[in-house]
Amino acid sequence: DPRLQAISDAIRVVPHFPKPGIMFNDITALLLRPAVFKDAVDMFVERYRGMRIAAVAGIEARGFIFGPAIALAIGAKFIPLRKPKKLPVAFTNLKGEVISETYILEYGTDCLEMHVGATEPGERVVVVDDLVATGGTLCAAIKLLERAGADVVECACLIGLPKYKNFYKLNGKPVYILVESR
Ligand code: IMP
Repeated sequence: DPRLQAISDAIRVVPHFPKPGIMFNDITALLLRPAVFKDAVDMFVERYRGMRIAAVAGIEARGFIFGPAIALAIGAKFIPLRKPKKLPVAFTNLKGEVISETYILEYGTDCLEMHVGATEPGERVVVVDDLVATGGTLCAAIKLLERAGADVVECACLIGLPKYKNFYKLNGKPVYILVESR
């Protein structure tokens, strides 16, 4: 697809962010180019339109940039999967309003949370994020949604790291990527 080259070119690689030695793939430059931003969203929309997707689940924070645009275009709802303690929960009912899934990172752990009732059993869901590296984050998202009974159809990311290519199938779910990191 001729759009992929422009998408790849619009992703900026920032050396030594957020720590020395890390090459950070930055999608903010792509967002400043509306034609390229639109092409990236359109490519996901073309893939998922007609697949009876009930919900797009976006991973905080960059999954919140692409997920809602895709959801609106395919007529699906948007579910934010948030970092801990960000989802509003009634003070009188701290348990039972969100479910969480903790996952392991290179250093330490992180966690994603979802409101109970955001998805219903059997709903077909696509998970969206900007980038897949080890796949740990997407795996946690899949587990969270499956615990709520959702049918996770696929994960969708703009960027995949070639280093981890063989792991792109997560929890048995395919990961659809637009471009590989340079
Ligand atoms: P994974 O869990 O190892 O697959 O890492 C993916 C998560 O880390 C996603 O939520 C990404 O947004 C974030 N991430 C890791 N590396 C980068 C990067 O180079 N650019 C942008 N996000 C990154």
